[in-house]
Amino acid sequence: MTALHLVCFERRPRPPLPGTGDHLERSGDQPGAFDAAEVGRPGAKRLGALVREGPRAGDVVDLNRALAAMLALEDVGAPEAEADSLVPADPLAFLRGFARGRGPAEEALAFVLDSLSRYDAPDLERAGILEERRRVRLCAPVPRPGKLLAVARNYAEHAAERGARERPVEPVLFVKASSSVIGPGEDVVLPAASEQVDYEGELAVVIGRPLREASEADALACVAGYTVANDVTARDFQHARGQHFLGKSCDTFCPLGPLLLTADGVSDPQDLELRTRLCGEVVQGARTKEMLFGVAEILAFASRLMTLEPGDVVLTGTPAGVGAAKDPPRYLRDGDVIEVEIDRIGCLRNPVVGPRAGRRDA
Ligand code: MG
Repeated sequence: MTALHLVCFERRPRPPLPGTGDHLERSGDQPGAFDAAEVGRPGAKRLGALVREGPRAGDVVDLNRALAAMLALEDVGAPEAEADSLVPADPLAFLRGFARGRGPAEEALAFVLDSLSRYDAPDLERAGILEERRRVRLCAPVPRPGKLLAVARNYAEHAAERGARERPVEPVLFVKASSSVIGPGEDVVLPAASEQVDYEGELAVVIGRPLREASEADALACVAGYTVANDVTARDFQHARGQHFLGKSCDTFCPLGPLLLTADGVSDPQDLELRTRLCGEVVQGARTKEMLFGVAEILAFASRLMTLEPGDVVLTGTPAGVGAAKDPPRYLRDGDVIEVEIDRIGCLRNPVVGPRAGRRDA
């Protein structure tokens, strides 16, 4: 299998393509050959895959539509219903059926890449199968995880900078509200109630198969893929006020993205480099091998107590270098830009805005 770079995207409103729409109606050529509504409703979040090479690199394939078109050419009955069943347009529905849909998703992408070399790309665009990168807005690859778990103090140097004297004997898990998730480029909004909002760059694991009482050896087989997270935290709520959950769960406090790299694209999740930049300055840098508990250990441990389900997301902890540990502390401010980058997966970039300027798309 070839690794997929999966995204969740929204189409931006677009002007009619040359030679379509009004032009067709006016000219009387091929009336009805193209219905502008067919390119998709702006605002709906859909599953996509990035084209990685060639002149269309960076553009987005609508996997559900691509599969429907492929099945229609193969004379499969009810191709759209079959595509909806195998590769649903909704990213979370796709993850829930990941074991079934992973193969067809790859076939649909291959169909598009092959089509590009055989006939004009605009046909694919008119059918809503391929979108120019500038025509879409990327969202979090899992816009609303079923469960959003996170691990505390999972890098020794970070645990030390936060005052922990001893290594935890097992992964220390907590939850963030799933409603805190935002996508790449969206604003992290500083709540008026907090004066100590901090960043935490982290590797995020996306579950693709149910995981219950799994061994470490079996755990990684249940991973759909990996993405990048920022476990934004209001330190004053987390510590002084004893409101750990609230301090982790404010709206916009979990940027995720920009894409989900399927697990077959990551030969070893403990061999990735992670960097966090605040306004261009590197503030965190580590390799994931420095985790106290690796991904397999975290998942196996959690699965002894709770079922991890497809569409759940697990943040694996942050390395040293958070703002609270600096002297003086450096908390996030209106106008900051925070970036978390992980090898091969990508760079998650989010502006920071003050309470009043904050605006969040529904
Ligand atoms: Mg964290």
